[in-house]
Parts: sequence; C-alpha cells; structure tokens
Amino acid sequence: MSSLEQKEGWIWMNGEFVEWHDARIHILTHTLHYGSGVFEGERAYNGRIFKMTEHHQRLHESAAMLDFTLPYNVDELNEAAMELLKRNNLQNAYLRPVAWHGAESLGVASGKNKVHVAIAAWEWGSYFAGNTGLKLMWSDWMRPAPNMSPVRAKANGQYITGTLSKNKAERMGFHDALMLDYRGYVAECTGANIFMARNGILYTPIADCFLNGITRKTVIELACNHNITVEERHILPDEIPSMDEIFVTGSAAEVQPVTLIAEHEFPIGPVTTKMQEEYHKLVTGGING
Ligand code: PMP
Repeated sequence: MSSLEQKEGWIWMNGEFVEWHDARIHILTHTLHYGSGVFEGERAYNGRIFKMTEHHQRLHESAAMLDFTLPYNVDELNEAAMELLKRNNLQNAYLRPVAWHGAESLGVASGKNKVHVAIAAWEWGSYFAGNTGLKLMWSDWMRPAPNMSPVRAKANGQYITGTLSKNKAERMGFHDALMLDYRGYVAECTGANIFMARNGILYTPIADCFLNGITRKTVIELACNHNITVEERHILPDEIPSMDEIFVTGSAAEVQPVTLIAEHEFPIGPVTTKMQEEYHKLVTGGING
C-alpha cells in the first residue's frame, strides 16, 4: 500500500529542515488523542504560494481559538514555507502547515504540552483540466453552533463529522457530502465552501458557523470585480433545485463545478466557468502573499 510516509524530500519541523522519513511524532502525542491541533492547506503555483500570509495568519488565529500560541510568527512561517519549496525544488505544490501539542503529559488539558509546528509540501498540479463536475449527497451531520465547537478554527478535532460524511459519500458513489448547519441552513462541504448562481446572481451561505474560506473570500472579491452580484445569505436546502449552477471553493479544490446534489442535476454554467477562469488567472499570476 503506498503511503505519504514513503515520499522523499525535506519537511520543516520545529525550526529545522528534516528528512521526510525523520518527521515523526510519539504515540502519546496529545493531539493524536484529543484532536487539539490546527492546520492549513495552501497551494503554490509556479513557485509562489497563493495568499501565504493569510493562511499563516489563520493558523495563528485557529491556534488562539484552541487556547494556544504558536512559537513561530507569521513572517517565520512564511520564510519556512518559501525555503521548503526551494529545498524540495517544487513549483506547483500543496503545503500542509500543522501545529500540535506534544507528549509531555496526557490528559484532556493541553496547557502543559509543548507546541510543535511543521510544514510539509509535495507536488500537486492544478486539477482544472478535464473536470466533469462533482457529485454531492447530503450529509447526515450538521455544522454545530458557535457555542458548541470553535467553528471558525481550522482545527483537526473538528473534522470527524467531515470524515464520516465523506466516507459515506464515497461508499455511495458520490465525491463529497454537503452539510447543513444546526439551524437547517445549507453550510458547506467537508473541505470546501459552496456557491450557487441563479439568474446571474451568486449566492453563498453566511459563514457564521463554518470556515470562512480564503478561496470563498477571493471568489466573492473576483465576482464583485466582474460585476457579478454576490448575496451572502441563509439558504434553505429547498432552494437548491431552483439554482442554475453550483460550485465549491477551497485551496485544494480551487473552483470546482457541482453537477449533482442528491437527485438534482446542474449544468456547468457561465458563472462557474468565469469564476474558474478568473481564479486560475489570479493564482497563477499572483505573488507570494
Ligand atoms: N471548509 C472546510 C471545512 C475546509 O476544510 C476548507 C479547506 N480549508 C474550506 C472550507 C475552504 O477553505 P479555504 O478556501 O481557506 O481553503
């Protein structure tokens, strides 16, 4: 069975560059038991990391929401990420910064545990080409209220309902699952935000109980720059069949058309195509952020 462990190259770990196979943690690592870590997912295009500073700021904000502080500031993380790309000779890559609590003590509280930080990066080309659209099913799980979980943090412990939803979706022949929130409004997919277009207007749920994605914010800006009206509002699942087009956004997913939600089919329409093209132009033409 192939494994990411078998890759070769350098990983930045706690301020040093270590060989890929040496980037290891102990079995009694706090975060492995209690999900007390945070992470990021970011992409490099032509050697440049799109919105790098925003990602590393969000890593800090996520840590703060989980009651801890990273021992490296945003500039240090930026420098580490750029040096990592160079050392690994990567141009088009996915980067995974992660911060976790060590094995100093094993109890629910994390305050006595050292905070570790690492960044891994590996080649991952853009998957715009040849895409035929995502097929989504409804998730059985809901995004919780902001006082039930630190919903705005990109925190690893929070992904368990996403994992369960996506496992079921894949078992049933779908690509991903679409989740409602605790009020029954459309929320997001397991690792991407959602947009819908009807009569040329773009709708997206208000990010008040799920991750306000960096790609989501970028696409809203791009749409506004191209005179496409964007309405952020609560969206009921009953409204989905009346939409002309649907797409999802994320640093990994980029802008991906959705062609099926449960039994409802959608074409890949002009708004989706425009947003895909504009996003592609922006990420490949941008500078380290
Ligand atoms: N929601 C969730 C749950 C995610 O994991 C992601 C991916 N980070 C997103 C939305 C999209 O966020 P971004 O555009 O910042 O990658």
